Amino acid sequence: MSATQQSAMSRRGFCACCAGAAGFAATGGWLSPSQAYAKARSIVDLIRDEAAKTPINVHRLRGKVSILEGSGGNIAVLTGADGKVFIDAGITASRPRILEASNSLSRDPIRHLINTHWHFDHADGNAWLNAEGAAIIAHENTHKHLLVAQRVEDWDYTFPSSPLAAVPAEVFSSDMTVELNGSKLALRHYEPAHTDSDISVTFGEVDILHCGDTYWNGIYPFIDYSTGGNIDGMIKAAEANVAGVTDKTIVIPGHGQPVSNKAELTEYRDMLVAIRDNVAKLKQQGRSLEQTIAAKPTATFDAKWGQFVIGPDFFTRLVYQGV
Ligand SMILES: [Zn+2]
Repeated sequence: MSATQQSAMSRRGFCACCAGAAGFAATGGWLSPSQAYAKARSIVDLIRDEAAKTPINVHRLRGKVSILEGSGGNIAVLTGADGKVFIDAGITASRPRILEASNSLSRDPIRHLINTHWHFDHADGNAWLNAEGAAIIAHENTHKHLLVAQRVEDWDYTFPSSPLAAVPAEVFSSDMTVELNGSKLALRHYEPAHTDSDISVTFGEVDILHCGDTYWNGIYPFIDYSTGGNIDGMIKAAEANVAGVTDKTIVIPGHGQPVSNKAELTEYRDMLVAIRDNVAKLKQQGRSLEQTIAAKPTATFDAKWGQFVIGPDFFTRLVYQGV
């Protein structure tokens, strides 16, 4: 990858969602399946190695809610006498730094973990958090995907099944309310979007929404078609996120700058809609994937959104699959 991409990745932390994309970015073109496989394997290792040394940045939001940034997806933490509640678990290699950051917030033990979806960069730390005493809650499809090996076609990569301690013990299908530490957490399942297991977490009293990977702040998102994701679902989820917040809401994305707002979320939704329309038009004209990529349907957005590991070509390919 280029120096710019390298520094962008170091700055924002590595993300398994992007493993295959980084393979594309690195070569500027298509990889054969075996090349992609080798690349994805090495990048998953790279993500673990990077997480092992990346510092965790703590962002205090409102009330008892903070964000730990620097280990895969953005982790939210609610503190209090019932024990800490983690939203997402990050990468296992970050364990000592996450514990250090978590202890800097309060000495409450970690008692609950909620996964926003099944992906490695959000659930890899499930086993150690469970060993710390966290009961794991997630959508039933996260349970289903963690229980058996998962193949992600766009990375040409197969993740092994998780140890039982890492599999959510409490699951739900549409929504669930969790009352802990004097706060009411509303968990809501999205229709298939980034995957078929995505949920949002709303902290009602302090007006904070964690969108998981239905929202990537300022960067093109990954869409995992292998476990049910699709571009139209991503747009619907973005619409629901926009409709559910006000100008005062703090919006937490799965990836990208962790403290966001309605204006940035709206810009993200508009970007998805515009690129979907551009790609759909080209596909309806009968253009092949290669011809569609060559027509640069993302061009007006690339300077801002294409600077992370999901580059313009790879994002075009993800949208083309779903229109
Ligand atoms: Zn993800």
